[in-house]
Amino acid sequence: MSHLDLAIIGAGAAGIGAARAAAEAGLSHQVIEASHRLGGRAYTEELAAGVPFDLGCHWLHTTDINPLVREADRLGFAIDRNFAFSAHLWLDGRHATAAESQAYAAYFDWAEGGAGMPPHSGEDRDVLSLLDPASPYFAPYAHVFSVIHAADLDQVSARDVMTQKANGGDWPVRDGLGRLVARLGAGIPVSLNTVAEEIDWSPRDHVIVRTNRGAVAARAVLVTVSIGILQSGLIRFRPALPAAALAALDGFSPGIANRIALHFDRDVFGDAPSNFTIVDGDAEPLAIYIPTFGFNYVVGQTGGGYAGHLTRAGQMAATAYVLDRVAAVFGESVRRYFVRSIVSAWETDPWVLGAYASVKPGHFGARETLLQPVEDRLFFAGEAVAMPMVATCGGAYWSGTQAIRRIAAALQPA
Ligand SMILES: Cc1cc2nc3c(=O)[nH]c(=O)nc-3n(C[C@H](O)[C@H](O)[C@H](O)COP(=O)(O)OP(=O)(O)OC[C@H]3O[C@@H](n4cnc5c(N)ncnc54)[C@H](O)[C@@H]3O)c2cc1C
Repeated sequence: MSHLDLAIIGAGAAGIGAARAAAEAGLSHQVIEASHRLGGRAYTEELAAGVPFDLGCHWLHTTDINPLVREADRLGFAIDRNFAFSAHLWLDGRHATAAESQAYAAYFDWAEGGAGMPPHSGEDRDVLSLLDPASPYFAPYAHVFSVIHAADLDQVSARDVMTQKANGGDWPVRDGLGRLVARLGAGIPVSLNTVAEEIDWSPRDHVIVRTNRGAVAARAVLVTVSIGILQSGLIRFRPALPAAALAALDGFSPGIANRIALHFDRDVFGDAPSNFTIVDGDAEPLAIYIPTFGFNYVVGQTGGGYAGHLTRAGQMAATAYVLDRVAAVFGESVRRYFVRSIVSAWETDPWVLGAYASVKPGHFGARETLLQPVEDRLFFAGEAVAMPMVATCGGAYWSGTQAIRRIAAALQPA
């Protein structure tokens, strides 16, 4: 068994960022990827020839500090720098007035800012307990929250949410953020279809990663798999992870969020806003996105318990759910032009088991704890520990590069 400096588990954004940084730092390394492809939750398919659709990440968030903005520009990927999320609502059969949208935007900002909770409060309450469900804006906010955080309001630590400050814009990538990430991974040393089954860190000066295709020994290992995979026990740690790391892991929810794309054979949207939330009586609201690049598709975005319900109901039910709402807004005739849908179900993907992680109430600090290296041999990276860009692709990539800085320092001869 040859000894490398580093084994990297997972070739999603974090693993790819880490592999590129490891190459720059002169660390010998090998990436071990369970699936047949690069990118993990960054994944683009085509709804039709030349119509790319991201099943996972699509927007470059926190663009002031997102390293993927520079990479997209360098590789010639088109980005819509004018895109912005709006507080526009469709309210029971009509577009909301400007005053209603403004009131919703104010409610949204107030809720996201902690709903009046003192910023340095030591309490770690759930977000729902801070809000007034009687507000007319509660239902759309609760829905959009579940999409942003991949969990419902009562499942999420308010303190953790309050530490997540987004700086800059949210810019979609025309040809797919999944494709950008896969391009960045071209050329990294990766073994696909290779499942890390055991990470043995019992030797004093190295780590052995046992896979379905043999073992790899390295001076350190960087684990970039999702929280869902870590919680599932699919990877055995020998010896078990320290109690603090295990407690931190328990503090996360792996998250449920999905994207349901409906493709039409013509433009059925006209000059409608590129994104708004549909409120339709007592039905679960739905945030929709119409790409600004001239494609004829719409994406329904779901999160939390309702997203899980739709996954269990099946792809046809999820498609019907979005099509019914799109028909309510754009007219029943759109049904005639509907061609096909693609429906994600990340919480059932065997190599992801979730969408993006959130911290449960009472577990504020879990992200920081999980980020701590174990004996300078076991390191973690990925979206869950990508402060201050958690839950994002750019954050995951960045966290991989930052891990390499720590690993390079730890591996330096004393
Ligand atoms: C529906 C949805 C929408 C999103 N929208 C956005 C967005 O618009 N913008 C944004 O920035 N982010 C978005 N995100 C979040 C973003 O996709 C993730 O934060 C990011 O892609 C996570 O990257 P990662 O490297 O941390 O993890 P992953 O992408 O999960 O990579 C981990 C890799 O590890 C592999 N693996 C798992 N188990 C093993 C094993 N035992 N052995 C070897 N390999 C293993 C997996 O196959 C995977 O390739 C979205 C996510 C979802 C699900």
